[in-house]
Amino acid sequence: MLLQGIKKLERESNTSSGDPLVPAAITDTGCERELNEDRYAVVECESGLAWIVCDGMGGAMGGELAAQLAIDAIRRDLENLQVRPVEAALKGSILEANRVIVLRRQNPAFSGMGTTVVAAMFNGPEVSIVHAGDSRAYLIRDAAIQQLTTDHTYVQDLVDKGKISPEEAMSHPQAHVLTRCIGSEPGLEVDVQKLWIWDVSGSEPLDYLLLCSDGLYSLVSDGEIANIAAANSPQRACVELVELAKSRGGYDNITVAIIPIGGQLKNEPPVGFLSRKKDAASSNNLKSKPKKNFKIGALLLGMSFLGILLAVLIMIGVLGK
Ligand code: CA
Repeated sequence: MLLQGIKKLERESNTSSGDPLVPAAITDTGCERELNEDRYAVVECESGLAWIVCDGMGGAMGGELAAQLAIDAIRRDLENLQVRPVEAALKGSILEANRVIVLRRQNPAFSGMGTTVVAAMFNGPEVSIVHAGDSRAYLIRDAAIQQLTTDHTYVQDLVDKGKISPEEAMSHPQAHVLTRCIGSEPGLEVDVQKLWIWDVSGSEPLDYLLLCSDGLYSLVSDGEIANIAAANSPQRACVELVELAKSRGGYDNITVAIIPIGGQLKNEPPVGFLSRKKDAASSNNLKSKPKKNFKIGALLLGMSFLGILLAVLIMIGVLGK
């Protein structure tokens, strides 16, 4: 078992439960499924660093393929395109994955293929979280937990309309019917959030971002997730969370990623961030001005030359007569 393995490693190396500032992720097939249709990935590119969790669906071949196709398309898009702001880069790469899977669904063998996605992209203090489907992002601060994403599910719609309670939603027979996912439609709309990392003073708690598939939160409560994540290093917490879900049946694939933020996540930029960015942008413009002037200068010179040439030709024409 994973937990026994890590305990043995700890005994052997005589270390505690790992570094609290090192991110970690785990995906596990669970106890009942034969295949793991979940995938996670970390992509580093010029636009930033992205963590991605996908939970595929679509039967025997489709499910496994869906999550992998999505991860591959997101990676290709992020690595090959030029630098973009984190929210544009992440959203663009996920819409590219949607295009790939919508195309693949035209093959009748893969008509039920689709995948959820929840992803976070970091660049300096800027963070973007994008999702489609029911995989979730949570913010954990000092054993308090906040769900950052809203599930795109039929039952969440019922909760939003006040027809059922959040507790009833968990045990609803259609609890896992998605209203949106990668592959569901050509014009997919994803939810995009922009957050910023704020530095904290020594006594303030540091935030953790947790991404997971429904195989975790269906069997482990938000409070349990928070307590385990707050009491352990990300590596140890990932293992404990997966083991807890499996001890309760583990009927679905389970994926969890825990990313230490190194500060606190807030809805607004840190003090002075926007003016620093504006300054940087205007100094870039200043640097590029000589080039622009040179181009205009060259254009004027060319036009003057053409004018003189034309005048000479006219004069020659007049004299020639
Ligand atoms: Ca699942």
